[in-house]
Amino acid sequence: MRIDVITVFPDMIANAVSYGVIARAITRELLKIVVHDLRDYTNDKHRSVDDYCYGGGAGMLLKPEPLFKAVEAIDANTDDRKVILLTPQGRLFNQEMARQLSLSEHLIMICGRYKGVDERVRESLVTDEISIGDYVLSGGEIPALVLIDAIVRLIPGVIGNYESAQDDSFSDGILDCPHYTRPAEYRGMRVPEVLLSGDPKKIKTWQRQQALARTLKKRLDLLKKELLSNEDIEFLKTLGYE
Ligand code: SAM
Repeated sequence: MRIDVITVFPDMIANAVSYGVIARAITRELLKIVVHDLRDYTNDKHRSVDDYCYGGGAGMLLKPEPLFKAVEAIDANTDDRKVILLTPQGRLFNQEMARQLSLSEHLIMICGRYKGVDERVRESLVTDEISIGDYVLSGGEIPALVLIDAIVRLIPGVIGNYESAQDDSFSDGILDCPHYTRPAEYRGMRVPEVLLSGDPKKIKTWQRQQALARTLKKRLDLLKKELLSNEDIEFLKTLGYE
């Protein structure tokens, strides 16, 4: 996969992708990240990327010309290319969107700043608008990094044990189950006996039931009947689920 990020703060992206899972994906050539400084696509001597809003009001806006030029300068080496604008007005990002985007060949991410971007960018340059939550940040760099992290760890071969991403919260519509490591007892708190039993079938059932129970308690909105088996529903009924 290739990801191009267009930003006025290229170091923010370049630094963050040089750690952990993302850095490893780059080293293994499963991922290429190209960071573009939006100022490189300006023509004036001040390299200005922003201007006042027509109609007045406080705040500056990212100008259309550098953004159009930056996107047009990126090689269109595949038809499977999405131009994503990070914006609080976009579709709310979730694990299923991360999974779908992890199948893409080429993503271009535009990081807004100030009051955002000129509307013509949204209208005719962008293919997808994505938000990371109902709050407003000062720039699109952190949202772009959130997307990159969530997407890249789902590319097959990127994380050591691919299974472990598949069991994460939201992957099959519910939260992850509780996990324990050594020691078996710490300050009087014991690891549940079933996990020490060595019985894989019992452990799997326990993990599923724990995941269902905590989803019922913490995120009732996630429980969708069509994603639950009859055993799941019978178990949930014992906890008061209707
Ligand atoms: N005036 C804009 C609005 O109310 O929709 C907000 C602009 S915000 C201060 C500056 C930039 O930060 C946005 O253009 C966007 O790129 C990014 N941003 C802020 N909050 C975001 C969020 N929740 N999700 C994605 N991007 C966000």
